[in-house]
Amino acid sequence: MARVAMESDLRRAVSEQEQFLLYYQAQIDSSGHLIGAEALVRWQHPERGMVSPAEFIPLAEETGLILPLGHWVLTTACQQLATWAAHPETAHLTVAVNVSARQFSLPNFVEEVLALVDYFGVNTANLKLEITESMLLDNVDDIIAKMIALKARGINFSLDDFGTGYSSLSYLKRLPLYQLKIDQSFVRDVLTDPNDAAIAKTIVALSQSMGLAVIAEGVETEGQRDFLALQGCHNYQGYFFSRPLPIEQFEAFVSSMHSTNETRLRH
Ligand code: C2E
Ligand code: MG
Ligand code: MG
Repeated sequence: MARVAMESDLRRAVSEQEQFLLYYQAQIDSSGHLIGAEALVRWQHPERGMVSPAEFIPLAEETGLILPLGHWVLTTACQQLATWAAHPETAHLTVAVNVSARQFSLPNFVEEVLALVDYFGVNTANLKLEITESMLLDNVDDIIAKMIALKARGINFSLDDFGTGYSSLSYLKRLPLYQLKIDQSFVRDVLTDPNDAAIAKTIVALSQSMGLAVIAEGVETEGQRDFLALQGCHNYQGYFFSRPLPIEQFEAFVSSMHSTNETRLRH
């Protein structure tokens, strides 16, 4: 019953579109500069408060509601990129958007993304799409063709949660990827579990030898950041830098980073 209730609430929320918010979590490089953000959707339920995406994204995927919801997320992210493009402080920032298998398998997915990018005049180099390995289970050829078409327009792809799915090295070499994203489950105990350390190290080496960028997610401590940097991973995302923030707070974070850097430059 709870599931049925949540499904009907989700259906209503998707059609009214007023209960969703897009949060932004900073992505930082090893010199401490902000390079962009990952967009993470939040559902502000009228009675239940903030519902975690871990709860409603799987339901949205099962019911197909991920299609209109994903469209809203992409639209909001493109609009944000267009707004940021107008200000020197934010013009360089990238936005990473999570895309579900069902969205990607839509026959007109490429057209949908390009229409939004054109409508908002987005600099495609600043748009990253995050896909997961589980998406590659069927129809890999179709997915690769769509990725190639989007990449031809300058859009980059990051492989999220890398190492947790059915990692197949044979598709890695066929996908036109820009970046691997080390899953937070390996980062969590990277300092204490030698297996996690070995896996993180191997993912960095793999990305380097394949000419891919690499970013670690779930970085919560300075020690984890330093270890990853030592292995050659120079891009990070996690609570150590910032939690996912609503847009106003994220922009305040951008300004505070900006003035810190200015101060650093002056001294
Ligand atoms: P993800 O894409 O792997 O996102 C990273 C998750 O890790 C986020 O959870 C983020 O809040 C959390 N996180 C970030 N830094 C840390 C940290 O330092 N420590 C820990 N413990 N966690 C951290 P969130 O926001 O709950 O999202 C969960 C998942 O829901 C995402 O995982 C993504 O798969 C999915 N999701 C979120 N937004 C969207 C969306 O717009 N579309 C789709 N299709 N999926 C989404
Ligand atoms: Mg992600
Ligand atoms: Mg992830």
